[in-house]
Amino acid sequence: ETIIQVKDVGKTFIGKDNRVEALKGINLEIHKGEIYGIIGMSGAGKSTLVRCLNFLEKPTTGTVMIEGKDLAVLPERELRQTRTQIAMIFQHFNLLMQRTVLDNVCFPLEITGQKKKEARGRAKELLEIVGLSEKAKAYPAQLSGGQKQRVAIARALANNPKILLCDEATSALDPTTTKSILALLKDINKKYGITIVIITHEMAVVQEICTHVAIIDGGTLAETGTVEEVFTRP
Ligand code: ADP
Ligand code: ADP
Repeated sequence: ETIIQVKDVGKTFIGKDNRVEALKGINLEIHKGEIYGIIGMSGAGKSTLVRCLNFLEKPTTGTVMIEGKDLAVLPERELRQTRTQIAMIFQHFNLLMQRTVLDNVCFPLEITGQKKKEARGRAKELLEIVGLSEKAKAYPAQLSGGQKQRVAIARALANNPKILLCDEATSALDPTTTKSILALLKDINKKYGITIVIITHEMAVVQEICTHVAIIDGGTLAETGTVEEVFTRP
């Protein structure tokens, strides 16, 4: 069952005296429950593509469909609802530094209108899932990189997303911490059936966790397939 469909997506940035074709005719189909890797070098178009998936960026051409719905023509209210089903984590975690770990995880729950007490209860559950219950009262600055990413994952899961987009989520972490974060993502995928899209420039990350992979180069997809297919093709 297809959850994300990218059809002929192009994105051109037009500057004062230049034009950058960041994406050219991208076609991609991601199925429910997959861990899908999008790998490419710096400047290949990975961030632009992932930003098109949650409509932080509007494609110049083509369509992005989430569960068969074209985000470009969804009414505002439905678009907002669909977007809460697409969560994201980042290379630099993007935590709120003035808030405790627990309050960081509560934040998206407050935004979607949950009562304070329920939000805190849910946030505590989420911290347990990511193995950080004992840090609930700490501030982000007191945490290691891996712990910060665990908080970000807990926050991302708060509103029960169907899709988790990971934009270079392990690029700031050492190899051991990277492994533990990838293990957590795998666990979440298995337990909750959340579709995970991993954007990375690191081959090892894709080989460790992904079921399917797309190689992006110069704004086009060079190859797509299962990890075995793509990495053993002659
Ligand atoms: P990656 O994430 O793979 O490093 P990006 O998607 O960030 O690649 O960038 C792809 C290309 O598009 C690069 O040449 C980049 O400079 C350009 N680009 C990205 N965002 C913008 C923007 N907002 N305005 C102009 N050019 C952009
Ligand atoms: P990354 O490649 O790590 O995603 P970048 O440094 O390429 O990060 O981009 C950071 C931000 O700057 C993004 O929002 C991107 O859209 C924007 N950006 C990237 N390249 C350009 C560019 N050439 N002109 C304007 N904005 C850009």
